[in-house]
Amino acid sequence: MTEAAEISHLKLLAKRHARASRVALHEALNFIAIHLGFSNWTQLVTANKSGWVPSPEQVVSIEAMVACHVSPADFKTGSADASTRRWEYLEQAEQSQIRGHAYRLQLGLDDVIIAGDGWSITVPENPSARATVRTSAEADDQSPVFDPDFLEEALSLANHRMAQVRGKISTDWPRRSTKPDGKGRSRHPLWDRDSDTWFCLHCNGKITGDQIAQNLWHCPACGASPVDIFDTAFWCEDEGKSLPPIGAKAKSDTRKPEFHVVDDRPKLELNERNIVLLMRSALLDDATSISERLGALLAEITVDEDND
Ligand SMILES: [Zn+2]
Repeated sequence: MTEAAEISHLKLLAKRHARASRVALHEALNFIAIHLGFSNWTQLVTANKSGWVPSPEQVVSIEAMVACHVSPADFKTGSADASTRRWEYLEQAEQSQIRGHAYRLQLGLDDVIIAGDGWSITVPENPSARATVRTSAEADDQSPVFDPDFLEEALSLANHRMAQVRGKISTDWPRRSTKPDGKGRSRHPLWDRDSDTWFCLHCNGKITGDQIAQNLWHCPACGASPVDIFDTAFWCEDEGKSLPPIGAKAKSDTRKPEFHVVDDRPKLELNERNIVLLMRSALLDDATSISERLGALLAEITVDEDND
């Protein structure tokens, strides 16, 4: 490749990266320059004029980074080597072990779920929603998710996977959907409408163009999905003019996961119908002749209020 071709290839990668990670193009250019050992893009271009070109390995590592859509924050401090190791780690992440506990990492309708024996962690697609940790009632005490180091590692794996999912979503959407213009107008990814104010059909929240773009078109107040977000509150008489902005409601601590104990053991609920069924099958079990079996099938069984 000629020098000019190398630079235009890096520019193309920067554009992809800007789109996927929802940052301005100049930030993406600087990010690539820093990754290649320069302090910013201008310095890289100057070096290129005096004959510097990235090595094929460097280009491959930038391509890998952009393909995986990871937020620049993860790489600002990391060396190229650390980044490569991290990619290898992520590649194997679908099924592996954390501190001796086996897990599976998978996608479910754009939520990321990491799960092992008796535990699971869900990181929702909605950026303002908290992760949920579920443990089964049976294994509750011994579950590895109660070890803070284990939990942190598992969460970080799931969060990295989620960064890729969100990067993919942003790339599929129009650029304006994740990067509002100078007037704060953003484009709805599904309706193809531009506005600086949006309304949530679910909670009547009035949301700015920046807020909704940042939250990937999920309502920052109630978590409603993009299909419930509109540029006019057509369900209000004044089309939403009197609705209050969501403001501080949107600010919640999303870093700490929520814990739930789930009793997933099969249970027999002792209601009248089930008791009658149990009694009848016991009678059938005991029946030794056809007439006793008929008797068991036809017997009238009544259950009183105390389930006797
Ligand atoms: Zn809402």
